[in-house]
Amino acid sequence: MLSEDLTTRILAAVDAQFDAQLERTAELVATPSLRAGEEPAQDLIEQQLRDLGLDIDRWTIDSEELRAHPGFGKPTVDYSVMTNVVGTYRPREESGRSLILNGHIDVVPEGPEEQWSRSPWDSEIRDGWMYGRGAGDMKAGLIANLFAFDAIRKAGLELTGRVHLQSVVEEECTGNGSLAALLRGYTADAVIISEPEEDSLVRANVGVLWFTVRVSGNPTHPREMANGFNAIDAAYEVIGALRELEEEWNSQRGDHPYFEDLDHPINFNIGGISGGDWPSSVPAWCELRVRVATYPGTTADDAWAEIVRCVETAAAGSEGVHGSRPSFDVRLTPDGFYAEGYVLEPGSDAEALLEETHRAAFDRELTSFTTPGYLDGRVFVNYGDMPTLVYGPVSESIHGFDERVSIESVRRCTKSMALFIASWCGVREG
Ligand SMILES: [Zn+2]
Repeated sequence: MLSEDLTTRILAAVDAQFDAQLERTAELVATPSLRAGEEPAQDLIEQQLRDLGLDIDRWTIDSEELRAHPGFGKPTVDYSVMTNVVGTYRPREESGRSLILNGHIDVVPEGPEEQWSRSPWDSEIRDGWMYGRGAGDMKAGLIANLFAFDAIRKAGLELTGRVHLQSVVEEECTGNGSLAALLRGYTADAVIISEPEEDSLVRANVGVLWFTVRVSGNPTHPREMANGFNAIDAAYEVIGALRELEEEWNSQRGDHPYFEDLDHPINFNIGGISGGDWPSSVPAWCELRVRVATYPGTTADDAWAEIVRCVETAAAGSEGVHGSRPSFDVRLTPDGFYAEGYVLEPGSDAEALLEETHRAAFDRELTSFTTPGYLDGRVFVNYGDMPTLVYGPVSESIHGFDERVSIESVRRCTKSMALFIASWCGVREG
């Protein structure tokens, strides 16, 4: 750990720049970066990485290698319009440990804007919170990475280890952005991902799969409805079967370390539904868009086989209550996350150091927890074998209305990360 003098200097440097940090964060939140529309926001990040004097690597993420990888999620958008940006710092003489600071630029859809109290792209600060889509998840963390790194230099110090500052796409839907960065050759002795994690460290998280189920019906005039087959009614049966599988998987949580004490770690979300052509025809089709979660250690292939079996069995054994057929046709297609979860094994040097820097910044002990949501940490842990600390500020309502991030928490997390960077990579007087 650092001397008291260096600690004081670095903490003061974070404070001195904190207004500028909030301005950069607000500017980034006010720049929408929905899926396949991230480029203007990545332009802002690239400019800031250039201003920090880093070597810039910006590339479109599509590659054969990426598509062949077992952790690749099938995309439904055009990857030729999407880029990752990495800024690299190399010390004149590399003697310290290396570090990746990762964050994702993409944000989830804002939903009906009239249900927000202000525009999702206002990035207004009110009562100690910054509001806006992506404020918490995770533009505050992404900018905090840059300012934590810069605080070392502002404190008059020079890092002696290599640092890669990564801004990736696709975290909210496939995880292919971080995977592309790994496959491009970016590795380090540790990774920090500054996701909104309640000032806490993620110990374990679930895997996630996305897929579409298409149910086929038989269209007839409603006057002879009994001769047709209603695909929308039948889709309810598919949902019922998936809910049973969800409960079965939740009942197994006692077999999975770090999940035993959670009430309901496995959540299946019916995230979209569409079907039928108009009210006066028995619907010939219905599509469900589904997100499921899995335990770490369950491969995506194994989970997928179980899901397919569950839905196909339900379709084959239907009671025929929706029309003339005793069974119905379903087709399942993976179209997003195809990702296994991970566990951060306790006992790493990186975690021990974060405990110290967290204590210095927050004046309390670091806690860890299990999260039932997807994280790119799985890329670095499962495929890069790197100790990965997913750790970041307090937020509320991420993926919901009036998403917000706590300003004071951002400040303290930035301090903790700055101390971590200096201590992990090593410093000398600049
Ligand atoms: Zn996130």
